[in-house]
Amino acid sequence: MEITIDKNKCTGCGACRKACLKGPKIFLLKDRNGKKVAEVGNPSYCLGCRMCVSVCKPGAITLKN
Ligand code: SF4
Ligand code: SF4
Repeated sequence: MEITIDKNKCTGCGACRKACLKGPKIFLLKDRNGKKVAEVGNPSYCLGCRMCVSVCKPGAITLKN
């Protein structure tokens, strides 16, 4: 699974981080402007469950096989 997070759409709400219990760690980091954005720790651990996608209201997360 390839997971990408659109940093422009991400609001840093942390919902994906809470939803992803067993896959890659999702961190909340600050970008250079001080805005919180989600970052995937190790995409190769992604289980493809799509929980993060379903909770992300701005639609910032994309999963591809
Ligand atoms: S759920 Fe979406 S908007 Fe919220 S931190 Fe994760 S990627 Fe960003
Ligand atoms: S698809 Fe599932 S395992 Fe992969 S990052 Fe999202 S919540 Fe985590």
